[in-house]
Amino acid sequence: MKTTRYLILSALFFGALSVSPARAWLFKEWKSGIEWREPEVIDPGSATQAPSDAIVLFDGTDLSAWEGGEKWTIENGYAIDGGNIDSKQHFGDCQLHLEFATPEKIEGNGQGRGNSGVYFMGKYELQILDSYENETYFDGQCGAIYKQSPPLVNACRKPGEWQTYDIIFTAPKFHDDGTLKSPAAITALHNGVLIQNHFELLGGTFWDEPPHYETHGDKGPIHIQFHGNPVKFRNIWIRDLSKQQHATENPAAEASKTPSESDR
Ligand code: MG
Repeated sequence: MKTTRYLILSALFFGALSVSPARAWLFKEWKSGIEWREPEVIDPGSATQAPSDAIVLFDGTDLSAWEGGEKWTIENGYAIDGGNIDSKQHFGDCQLHLEFATPEKIEGNGQGRGNSGVYFMGKYELQILDSYENETYFDGQCGAIYKQSPPLVNACRKPGEWQTYDIIFTAPKFHDDGTLKSPAAITALHNGVLIQNHFELLGGTFWDEPPHYETHGDKGPIHIQFHGNPVKFRNIWIRDLSKQQHATENPAAEASKTPSESDR
């Protein structure tokens, strides 16, 4: 009986410690000391509208933001792949959204069916392919980082249906002597499903060569591949992340501030 009463009283006492103000009285809150800059307020947009801080590369009406865009056909708010195109503006770290639909009429098979691709910095391809009940090599199917990493799952919709890619790309960095300092990385969602989780690339993506890095600058074009198939695209927008590190008002404070034992 005595033991039971002790247990109940202990539970009440220690339970009370988990709530304010008792917890605040006994413990001191830890703060990092870093003076973060207030995150910019943006309009997040919607399923069909880009966020307010995005650069719209194709809004359904024209491809003037692209070199080679005149080779494509634009109709009904979408564009049909008719040749390789490169964004006129160049990017390094970025977040890219695009929507695509592989041809409704099924023609060809394997790599010959609904093939396109989006390349970051013109060198690193995330594959676009009709992989709905269409066998090919896994590291070349839709959502693969070509010949380096198959998608974690096959999230393809049927031919002709609109699909989304949301991709976060981290650009590789090189030392002054041209050697690799840090690799490129890709995180990608296909139709809202994670298919690449910060995969660190082994280099550029090639069909006839193993992946390898070739030194290049901080930025390059977004390239959309023409592989002979009339893949449709719409709603292409990009956010430049190269200046979006966790900025502080006082960077020195971040480096010097180490919480003391008593603060913990
Ligand atoms: Mg391709």
